[in-house]
Amino acid sequence: MSKIGIVGSGMGSLGFAIRSAVAGHQVSVFEANSYPGGKLAQIETNGFRFDAGPSLFTMPHLVDELFTLAGKNPRDYFSYERLPEICRYFWEDGTRLQTNAAPAETAAAIASELGESEENVARFLREIGENYHIISELFLDNSLHSLSTWTGRKALKGYLNIPRLGLFNTMHRSHAKRFTNPKTVQLFDRYATYNGSDPYQTPATLSIIPHLEYNIGAFFPKGGIISIPRALHRLAEELGVDFHFNEKVSRITTENHTATGLETEKGNYTFDYIACNADIRPSYTKLLEQEPQPKKLLNQPKSSSGIIFYWGMDRSFDELGVHNIFFSDDYQGEFKAIFEDQTINDDPTIYLHISSKVEKSDAPAGSENWFILMNVPANEGQDWDALVTKMRKNVIEKLSRNLGVDIEKHIVAEDYLDPRRIEARTSSAGGALYGNASNNRFAAFLRHPNYRKAIKNLYWVGGSVHPGGGIPLCLSSAKIAAKLFAENA
Ligand code: FAD
Repeated sequence: MSKIGIVGSGMGSLGFAIRSAVAGHQVSVFEANSYPGGKLAQIETNGFRFDAGPSLFTMPHLVDELFTLAGKNPRDYFSYERLPEICRYFWEDGTRLQTNAAPAETAAAIASELGESEENVARFLREIGENYHIISELFLDNSLHSLSTWTGRKALKGYLNIPRLGLFNTMHRSHAKRFTNPKTVQLFDRYATYNGSDPYQTPATLSIIPHLEYNIGAFFPKGGIISIPRALHRLAEELGVDFHFNEKVSRITTENHTATGLETEKGNYTFDYIACNADIRPSYTKLLEQEPQPKKLLNQPKSSSGIIFYWGMDRSFDELGVHNIFFSDDYQGEFKAIFEDQTINDDPTIYLHISSKVEKSDAPAGSENWFILMNVPANEGQDWDALVTKMRKNVIEKLSRNLGVDIEKHIVAEDYLDPRRIEARTSSAGGALYGNASNNRFAAFLRHPNYRKAIKNLYWVGGSVHPGGGIPLCLSSAKIAAKLFAENA
């Protein structure tokens, strides 16, 4: 049995802590905040409850797996339902589209509302599923830095399929070639934002992302997203993991480039192994100042961040679903503003999520809790106060225009996050939601690995390391790190 210390208690940490405790190790987690879950936090105001971070839950089996690994029934800890409807789309010219859980229904809706060939859409949804399986076996379930990943039958299958994976094309060009209506292209381009990237730059390989929603499903956990880290925290505690909340780590101690322990505001601790769930940039510059810095990995462009408005509305809107998108008329300009000009286009795409459509207790009777997210650049010192004020006005105008109602009159509770606040609350560099962006075809290889020989006995989990950000990939990072740990330790 080894003693393992973990920095942070985000999804990557919770996954790694549970896997390590199940393997019989003694695990301690140090978290700067007073709660587990990192970006999976919640905001409560004036009778409304909001999940502050993620709103879309995909691949729930990766959470369930942690309970079954520990010999427990996941349903004794948390439950979820598959949403019958995936998303409602709104365009400024009045076009509306609803996508549903059944891929055939989505293909039929895109055919009837956007004029695409139904068979072409259905084939696309099938193909991205096939591509997903090839890519996940190679890139998402394994370390990119282990020889075994690049040898064997699965690797050979991957090599043979490289031409169809779209590494040498951008996502936008590939969709534009495939579909006739620019709105369909925009619809599928949108998925680049699921890892904070730009569809006009990111490789077409990432076209697999909608497979998660359309072929596996969009899920909603009972009690909201916050119930996921709470359930994992409960399981981890039952397995003997020792949590130290409100205890920020100030240094990962090393000797001869080997991690030996943690220094916190409250004391010094010795461990056999360390896992770091904090963002790689502050981890190297603040916690590992004494070690050589992997400059190339740290200097990659960051993923997008977000401005999020949390509005309690005093009425309900039947035309809205759980997930809604109000598209910008200038999609390319929106991404140019974020990734080239480091600012926000005046007409950004708006994502509107209403958890109270499913979880009635999230809002008073007859009311709704609106979570409104715009993709914005990571914090590089922009005037966020001015940008938040401008965006609030633009969002109210756009939603009022599309819904035919002066929505400002109905806002009765209000809060917001911007990149500065996200950074302050979770220590992610610039408030980037997904670590580095994947805006070039080598991005996967320029993501920090889950283990580097340069600092021994130190493992890395979470959204800023391989395989990437988002709840499922953070859980995968924990799985890969635990596998490497079992092989090395
Ligand atoms: P994080 O959540 O980044 O947590 C890291 C933890 O480490 C924090 O609790 C922090 O306090 C702690 N920490 C850092 N430094 C120290 C230190 N020195 N000492 C002690 N503790 C420290 N993903 C989805 O799958 N679906 C979505 O719909 C989605 N939407 C999102 C919307 C928003 C607004 C945001 C913010 C994120 C969204 N994401 C979404 C992304 C997802 O939340 C993240 O990728 C994921 O939660 C990151 O997990 P992590 O393991 O990297 O840890």
